[in-house]
Amino acid sequence: MGFNVAIDGPAGAGKSTIAKLVAKELGFIYVDTGAMYRAIALYLLNKGIALDDQEGFAKYCKEADVTIKYIDGIQVVMLNGENVNAFIRTEAVGNMASASSANPEVRNRLLSLQRNLAEEFDVVMDGRDIGTNILPNAQVKIFLTASADVRAKRRYDELTAKGEECDYEKIKADIIERDERDSNRAVAPLKQADDAHFIDSSDMTIEEVKNAIIAFCR
Ligand code: C5P
Repeated sequence: MGFNVAIDGPAGAGKSTIAKLVAKELGFIYVDTGAMYRAIALYLLNKGIALDDQEGFAKYCKEADVTIKYIDGIQVVMLNGENVNAFIRTEAVGNMASASSANPEVRNRLLSLQRNLAEEFDVVMDGRDIGTNILPNAQVKIFLTASADVRAKRRYDELTAKGEECDYEKIKADIIERDERDSNRAVAPLKQADDAHFIDSSDMTIEEVKNAIIAFCR
């Protein structure tokens, strides 16, 4: 088994930003599991599956072959052999990922891919159920969160910086709805592992959060 750092937490807590920095500093591979769920979601959307079609999720996820590779240290998600990085960061894909990732067949599709990466490499892996379910023996587990206001503000700033028009209250409502869905689903809900370190990044800089996690790893 590699040295495994598991970072879980709700949408917008800064997991991917922090996980990338921690991985870089430790010389580990960064594994973004949300991107894998997004790739399956993209496939389901392209097939025209509705957001509440559990049978459709279970049936069509079997046709979605997700793998990852690294180009210049960046994780590239391949869906049936095609690089889909450019297509998975939309709100539509995020919503479908949130809905379909509650389906056990969808989760099963990605379980061994995630575990095998952690077995083979030293990884910083972020997601919702990494410390609780995917890598219960990870050497370091972090539960990273921030208030819904702060997370919505970060997302709002990110979108406006890209020139996209958006509504703060709508973003906040979406974040709260996604938290609810991720935390209350029957399979692999978002939950702090008993042995995870809790970090609330609401009033912390990126550098401070990164350093706190690095300290747990040494
Ligand atoms: O982290 P990101 O926003 O890219 O994840 C998209 C969705 O995938 C989340 O809302 C969550 O429902 C799901 N997910 C999950 N388990 C993971 C990672 C993501 O259920 N390990």
